[in-house]
Amino acid sequence: MIAVAFAGHTGRVGTAVVPGLRSTPGIEYVGGVGRGDDLVQLLRGGRPQVLIDFTVPSAAKENALLAAHLGVAPVVGTSGLAPADVDQIEAACAEAGVGGMVAPNFAVGAVVMMWLAELAAPYFDAVEVVEAHHASKLDVPSGTATATARRLAAARAGRPFDHAVPHTVNLPAARGGELEGVGVHSLRLPGVLADQDVIFGVAGQTLTIGHRTLSREAFLPGILMAVRAVASGPGFHRGLDELLGLGRPITGDPTR
Ligand code: NAP
Repeated sequence: MIAVAFAGHTGRVGTAVVPGLRSTPGIEYVGGVGRGDDLVQLLRGGRPQVLIDFTVPSAAKENALLAAHLGVAPVVGTSGLAPADVDQIEAACAEAGVGGMVAPNFAVGAVVMMWLAELAAPYFDAVEVVEAHHASKLDVPSGTATATARRLAAARAGRPFDHAVPHTVNLPAARGGELEGVGVHSLRLPGVLADQDVIFGVAGQTLTIGHRTLSREAFLPGILMAVRAVASGPGFHRGLDELLGLGRPITGDPTR
């Protein structure tokens, strides 16, 4: 039995995922905290092995550091953490001898989408990542889009993507953002949950790899994989890839 607590239990992800945690054999849900609640009391009183965090970027790092300090393995889904924050969480987990995970996306399909995009990266000259989320998402671009852009750039083995910069810009930011040569565009719309398309281009053709999140139930299987992994002992994971057994990308230029 793995005892699990949840920071952000009354949020959109929390309310969708907690009932699933409660009904999963082998998981004991010991309780949750919201803004202003006492996390130390929950961690000391409920004695969870794992703290799942879907809160806000300003709270997630401190929650994870506190959990590790108290010997509780953090599983962080909150987006918007800086790479240095994740390094700090990893160091705190290592120091405490507990497992940990920070993942930009717990939807298995989204993780596979990122991996497939990474595989495609060496075959195209340019790429644009277009993510769409619900209108009340706090941060932009999404953690998934940022992670995808970094992985796409890294998969090119030092050959940067072409990123066209128009001569005339009639509307500021119409071209979106650019991260290491990868165009990144964020749509915020009511009715959307979390979608992403990765659109590649090379002379005469495009390739689109897309993922649609249709409900927040999508996050539960990935969260459970993470919970079981971090509860099994030390080891820090940045994403679900390794747990899903996804292979490493092709490096260099396979078209030559
Ligand atoms: P949300 O609906 O705004 O829920 C966040 C919850 O956290 C709210 O209930 C909020 O309480 C609470 N909270 C704020 N500060 C807190 C603190 N210091 N301690 C404990 N709880 C606190 O947001 P959401 O849609 O559930 O998303 C949460 C985060 O997960 C976002 O960063 C989102 O981008 C990310 N996310 C990640 C994934 C993934 O797969 N990795 C998937 C979906 C979402 P109040 O209502 O009182 O402010």
